[in-house]
Amino acid sequence: MTPDHGELLYEGKAKRVFASADPDRVLVEFKNDATAFNAQKKAQLDDKGRLNCQISARLFELLEREGVPTHYCGLAGETWMLVRRVEIIPLEVVLRNTATGSLCRQTPIAEGTAIDPALLDLYYKDDALGDPLLTEARVQLLGVADPARLSAIEQLARRVNAVLLPFFEGIDLQLVDFKLELGLASDGTLLLADEISPDTCRLWDRGNSNAEDRILDKDRFRKDLGGVMEAYGEVLKRVQGTCPNPRNCL
Ligand code: UDP
Repeated sequence: MTPDHGELLYEGKAKRVFASADPDRVLVEFKNDATAFNAQKKAQLDDKGRLNCQISARLFELLEREGVPTHYCGLAGETWMLVRRVEIIPLEVVLRNTATGSLCRQTPIAEGTAIDPALLDLYYKDDALGDPLLTEARVQLLGVADPARLSAIEQLARRVNAVLLPFFEGIDLQLVDFKLELGLASDGTLLLADEISPDTCRLWDRGNSNAEDRILDKDRFRKDLGGVMEAYGEVLKRVQGTCPNPRNCL
């Protein structure tokens, strides 16, 4: 089902953003396009849009119940979400609870090392530059966020981790790391935006000790492991098992 929508405002790698009847809200459509390695690897994955939209909606509602401010307003179809219109801050905020991926390629830290408190890494959201890792000084130099805003971003990101880490543990998933994007609403409020899904989180099945079989996230696509949508489906099944059905706002 496609909701009534206005003009296409923006198209990204995984989502399209359309105007809605309310100037302060926009409609987000989750696409089936999968990309990795800065879009050098591309595929169409049937049903990915629905799975990510449905997982994200439940996680946004969970976070909202825990007092985390998000852009989410409600579902507007199986692959559609109504969200507050925000100006996205050009930062990719990554929280790491377990070492893997680029952290292990770029440092001597061993794969699987537990990180507590979580490591917060900031990347500049710029595809042409390949989303480079930033320092706090570079964030200031770029004028992306002043120290007060950066501190608010870090606090919000850590609150998200504090909710999601035990939530996923409760459904036998290890939240290895994840990426967040934040935005500013028209009244200046800092809101969690974008999505929270197996595209943006690394999730390992805690009941499976095999290093490949336990992967239930986009690394299955990145590493050509197969069974990508089956893995996302398993995540949705477990999330659905404990979260109420998300509200429909149409
Ligand atoms: N991530 C993401 N989008 C990006 C880069 C990373 O959603 O453009 C997520 C990724 O899925 C993982 C976390 O952020 O959950 C940390 O990724 P890392 O920096 O280790 O990236 P890698 O280079 O290993 O993919």
